[in-house]
Amino acid sequence: MIKACGYFRLSREDGDRAESDSIKNQKIFVRDYANKNNLPIIEEYIDDGFTGTNFNRPSFTRLMDDIHQGKINCIIVKDLSRLGRNYIEMGRLISNILPSLGIRLIAINDNYDSIDEENTVSQIIVPFKNLINDAYCRDMSLKVRSQLDMKRRKGKFIGSFALYGYIKDPKDRNHLLIDETAAGVVELIFNLKMDGFSTGHIVSKLSEYEIPTPLEYKRICGMNYNSGFRSGSKGKWSPSTVDRILRNEMYTGTMIQGKRRKINYKIKHIMNVDPSEWYKVENTHDAIVPKEIFETVQRILFMDTRTSPDNENVSVLAGLVKCGDCGQNMVRRSAVKNGKKYYYYHCSTYKSGKGCSSHLISETSLVRSVTKTIRLNLAFLSDSANVIRSMKERPYDVIGVNLLDKQITEQKREIEKYSSLKAKLYLDMTEGLITRDEFTDINNSFTLKLDRLKAALTANEKKKTEKLSLNINEVPWINEFLEYKNIQKLERRVAISLLEKVIVHDKTHIEVEFRHKEEFEEILKIALAAKEVTA
Ligand SMILES: [Zn+2]
Repeated sequence: MIKACGYFRLSREDGDRAESDSIKNQKIFVRDYANKNNLPIIEEYIDDGFTGTNFNRPSFTRLMDDIHQGKINCIIVKDLSRLGRNYIEMGRLISNILPSLGIRLIAINDNYDSIDEENTVSQIIVPFKNLINDAYCRDMSLKVRSQLDMKRRKGKFIGSFALYGYIKDPKDRNHLLIDETAAGVVELIFNLKMDGFSTGHIVSKLSEYEIPTPLEYKRICGMNYNSGFRSGSKGKWSPSTVDRILRNEMYTGTMIQGKRRKINYKIKHIMNVDPSEWYKVENTHDAIVPKEIFETVQRILFMDTRTSPDNENVSVLAGLVKCGDCGQNMVRRSAVKNGKKYYYYHCSTYKSGKGCSSHLISETSLVRSVTKTIRLNLAFLSDSANVIRSMKERPYDVIGVNLLDKQITEQKREIEKYSSLKAKLYLDMTEGLITRDEFTDINNSFTLKLDRLKAALTANEKKKTEKLSLNINEVPWINEFLEYKNIQKLERRVAISLLEKVIVHDKTHIEVEFRHKEEFEEILKIALAAKEVTA
């Protein structure tokens, strides 16, 4: 005699669908099946809110008790996953436990009925295809990911589309070639930025020249096979598009991948990856933008040159001028005098009424002074470089080695200090002045401190060795600086490349601070000393 029961389970945790897997639906489903197949249901067991990954469920336990007492000999479920989701446990239940107790199991949606002869153990795998699929997907996803990571590590391009300015090499789809047309636009954008144009201004220039946006360009190039090309819907350049181009280091020939990552194969959510974990490989493709230009542009972007939008001509010194008293930015303003427009700078603190004084200076005279100072200093630099080149002994000594020496001495002293403190600490403990716990705490903090100091010292010593072996002819910024030796008119890109800031004390006291200031000064100093010796 058949003593059938229905077993129902629902768990949001397991990803069950609230509607189709609801207890109510399961009941309708099972009762309907039982009716049609003449299986009288004498009991119903409900585990609402219990996961299928284990069998610790109250109604399931009751069901097993009832089975042992002979009250039930047939279980009907909507599908096998209602009974459980743990593949191994389920296998044991279906192939050993239930058959040994003479219990018939019916899983309607899986077309499984243990009474059917052909339902051998191997076939219970089928209902679990989802679980197996799951494992399979996970495995495949890991495999694919590691293959892609390998390519990324080698600097092989794995994107579906090449970066604007490049095309995929037809002979090697993991390699990029320059697309002359788009590369010209990238170059133009970088040049405009170097000339001091604001990003907004670059956008209007690009529109003015009727240059198609990267997206538009892609569409035009793909016109052959893309019949859905819509004409007339011209995309517009936006500041964020320009900004993305200006910040993309790929244009310097360095392959950068892995900036974003899917969390895993199941969750489609994309997350940003910390720059320290990006895959970066230099010189994997031809550069559109030289590295120095790229770096200068990053500086410009960082300075956030705020030019008023109506200004066609951008100030050469925008973002560089500081007040000599309060250290704040000097702002540029215009005034009309006798029908002519003049530009001047004054202190932003004064302007906002928070103190300081105006420090007013005309732009023309400021630029004139700065240009003169640059010419003078570059002449010194050029002379000094020549002197150093002609020095017989250790001509390389100049580049900051003295500065490093100072740091190294200081770090060695600190290391000694903490080492002796540690020794003393141990004595303090043995003499009972501090407890063992206190000793451990303090000792740990000393150890940490010492580790950091030693790492810093090693880094500095390495730097020093590098510098000692460096030839002055190979110091990149010196050659860059000397290119501008004979400038007559100060251009924006020159100012950005050479200057850290311009400090205005008053109309006649203007201080020009060069980039690489410490090394610059060191070179002048050494050359001067060398001259005194030979004189
Ligand atoms: Zn001020």
